[in-house]
Amino acid sequence: MSKNLSPVCKLCRREGEKLYLKGERCFTPKCAFERRSFAPGQHGRTGSRSGGGSRTGRESDYLRQLRAKQRARRVYGILERQFRRYYEVALQRRGLTGLNLLQILESRLDNVVFRLGFASSRAQARVMVTHGHFTVNGRRTDVPSMLLKEGDTISVREGSQGLTYFKGLSDLADARTAPAWLSRDTKGLTGSVQRLPERAEIDGSLNEQLIVEYYSR
Ligand code: SF4
Repeated sequence: MSKNLSPVCKLCRREGEKLYLKGERCFTPKCAFERRSFAPGQHGRTGSRSGGGSRTGRESDYLRQLRAKQRARRVYGILERQFRRYYEVALQRRGLTGLNLLQILESRLDNVVFRLGFASSRAQARVMVTHGHFTVNGRRTDVPSMLLKEGDTISVREGSQGLTYFKGLSDLADARTAPAWLSRDTKGLTGSVQRLPERAEIDGSLNEQLIVEYYSR
């Protein structure tokens, strides 16, 4: 499994906004963006961002589309090749391609573990899944990109429940809210997918229309 190895906080600085990729740390003064909100690199302070856009300059349509796509990729922690594959699957599904794409991203196992409140970030959820701490419908899985569907049940594996992190997890999860399209039992460290999320239940700052325009060029 390949992954993006660039330091996580640089992604926020490159986007020019907080993407909340590091869980609780993002809400503390330790957040790198709070301390250095300019883009990383030699020309960071002069305003250059990924994709060549300038924060002050007028952006071309292409740059806005590129940045919308890059932003979504970074939020969900997905490499370009897989992201494009998701777009192609979304295109083949019935309905709005942009919404289909967001629903695919939301239905990834690492995202669902995060949304259930069992991890403080998608990155942490991905590591926990990779280490085999979860089951889907009773079967152990270590594939964070697994796409879940309505009715699927996710649980912390019995053998992992005695680990220190999981012993305190029900209290941690109780303090986090879960979206209505998922149901969960924090005491039992289990949850299930009730349905796919509606657009209003997905991060409103993502612009799926621009992403679709980017790939349909
Ligand atoms: Fe982004 Fe979180 Fe790092 Fe702040 S701490 S720069 S919000 S990933």
